[in-house]
Amino acid sequence: MTTETLTNWARNITYTAKELHRPHSVEALRALVAGSDKVRVLGSGHSFNAIAEPGPEGLLLSLTGLPPAIEVDTAARTVRVGGGVRYAELARTAHAHGLALHNMASLPHISVAGSVATGTHGSGDGNGPLAAAVREVELVAADGTTLSLARGDERFGGAVTSLGALGVVTALTLDLEPAFEVSQRVFGELSLADLDFTAVAASAYSVSLFTRWQRSGFDQVWVKHRADRPRQDFPWAAPATEAAHPVPGMPAVNCTEQFGVPGPWHQRLPHFRAEFTPSSGEELQSEYLLPRACAVAALHALDEVRRVVAPVLQICEVRTVAADEQWLSPAHGRDTVALHFTWIADTAAVAPVVRQVEEALAPFGARPHWGKVFAVPAAALRASYPRLGDFRTLADTLDPAGKFRNAFVREVLGV
Ligand SMILES: Cc1cc2nc3c(=O)[nH]c(=O)nc-3n(C[C@H](O)[C@H](O)[C@H](O)COP(=O)(O)OP(=O)(O)OC[C@H]3O[C@@H](n4cnc5c(N)ncnc54)[C@H](O)[C@@H]3O)c2cc1C
Repeated sequence: MTTETLTNWARNITYTAKELHRPHSVEALRALVAGSDKVRVLGSGHSFNAIAEPGPEGLLLSLTGLPPAIEVDTAARTVRVGGGVRYAELARTAHAHGLALHNMASLPHISVAGSVATGTHGSGDGNGPLAAAVREVELVAADGTTLSLARGDERFGGAVTSLGALGVVTALTLDLEPAFEVSQRVFGELSLADLDFTAVAASAYSVSLFTRWQRSGFDQVWVKHRADRPRQDFPWAAPATEAAHPVPGMPAVNCTEQFGVPGPWHQRLPHFRAEFTPSSGEELQSEYLLPRACAVAALHALDEVRRVVAPVLQICEVRTVAADEQWLSPAHGRDTVALHFTWIADTAAVAPVVRQVEEALAPFGARPHWGKVFAVPAAALRASYPRLGDFRTLADTLDPAGKFRNAFVREVLGV
């Protein structure tokens, strides 16, 4: 047990937990859970809100003391990872076995369990969120017993993107595929007026558009092409002549290789290299996921408020995500466009702008990223998830006393 002061990666949240524990075995973890009234798990702490906060009477568990299991089954093309493992370690091991994940987020520093719990995603029209690769979840439930929920189980739709509300995830089994190479190219300015969003987003395996909203259009487009798929031209913008970082002023050396040099999937799909600080390091983030068919209309709605947005914005990124089946996935049931904002690290200045962005995007049925800053009223959140009632029933069944439900989860579920 330790009483150290703990913050999230962005340092905008200080966890008030009564105690922080790092158990060294699943048995010790089970005893801690069984003996506590309020429990939350801290992954790698890359969320920007109080989703992991157990409250002042609660127990915060870190799984970094558990053996960092990464067990690859090459014949089945699956990997079983421990609840504290990060994508960087998982990706290196999978690649060493000649295997790959279908996609990665912008950074590999984040824990697998924490990422899939919040619906974390990368980009690509055909790529579901990272949770889409999960085939089985192993949990320590509220009474300290263990439980497995696998694809095919009728409860599985709530099991992966669970906001940490069902129990402590001690292991996850993920689908892999044969390793592939990716080449990454960066292109320059692209105006909003000329934007054929459908064609641009479909032009490669993974596409990201970046803008500071200082003008009506994009400053950079990052295009990640899979070497084993037909290559398409990118006729809409000129190729960059210098290595780029999405955030102006940050060193390009922090980013993965560009200029079309082919390389392993895990060294191209994330924007940021595992051994450097990702993004700017001094920031807040928000993100909204809405039906992909609304992409252009939503971008024009943002363009209307860009003079309010630009002063507190470091960078905005636009990505696509394939529809997901997880009940609480922000991409649930719809092919999605994700509109992301890296704000300056100033909560007071950013908060009113977040509300304006939310007003602009509300007509499109925008769902906020669970791990980022948002102010969408809970009733509106609940109304945008058709399977929320099923999730609540599952949480009530597995955790009748609400041991794993913190203030964030109670608000979302309306309990
Ligand atoms: C620089 C930066 C870049 C980012 N880029 C992207 C991106 O490209 N795409 C994207 O979608 N998001 C992105 N994010 C957001 C990030 O992916 C999410 O916040 C994600 O949840 C981080 O994982 P974590 O382990 O740090 O989660 P944490 O913040 O530690 O936890 C998130 C939730 O998961 C729960 N949890 C964690 N581990 C367990 C466990 N073992 N058992 C039960 N519950 C658990 C926690 O209780 C909490 O509710 C980015 C964040 C940062 C800081």
